[in-house]
Amino acid sequence: MAPRPFRLGRSNTGLGLFATRPIKKRTRIAEYTGKILDLEEAERAERRGNRYLYEVSTHRTIDGTARKNIARYFNHSCNPNAESIIWRGRVFVKTLRDIKPGEELTYDYGTEYLKNVIGRENCQCSRCRRRRAKLARERREANKRRDARLAAKRRTKQTKKSKRSR
Ligand SMILES: [Zn+2]
Repeated sequence: MAPRPFRLGRSNTGLGLFATRPIKKRTRIAEYTGKILDLEEAERAERRGNRYLYEVSTHRTIDGTARKNIARYFNHSCNPNAESIIWRGRVFVKTLRDIKPGEELTYDYGTEYLKNVIGRENCQCSRCRRRRAKLARERREANKRRDARLAAKRRTKQTKKSKRSR
């Protein structure tokens, strides 16, 4: 494979991989590598909390823990610009669209990983952060409207009261 078109850098969640030059759609950019585990070994590793297991098939799981496995640094996104594909028992990461330099490269780890490991409400991908920011904004605006309504009510009550006391 040609020299890497990306570098390791700081992301929202810690470390991530960022494009260092334009990358064309459907480019194979990395391979997810590591020790091959059978079912039993994979289950043991999972129980120990290994978060870098890539299940290729029931009997073949790649343990991507080793730091030289650069692909372990791809972060998850619910709106990814790359994908991981299994090809002849190996795992490659391929871009889904044209990438601009500086963009973080992400792929979708899958629903199960999102639900069980990350937790839907903890997902730090740009789509989830945007969604949560929007919800927070809507909540703030709803609160503001409610406060304004209450304040208006109090004002009318006070006006009535002052009229009566006159
Ligand atoms: Zn997300």
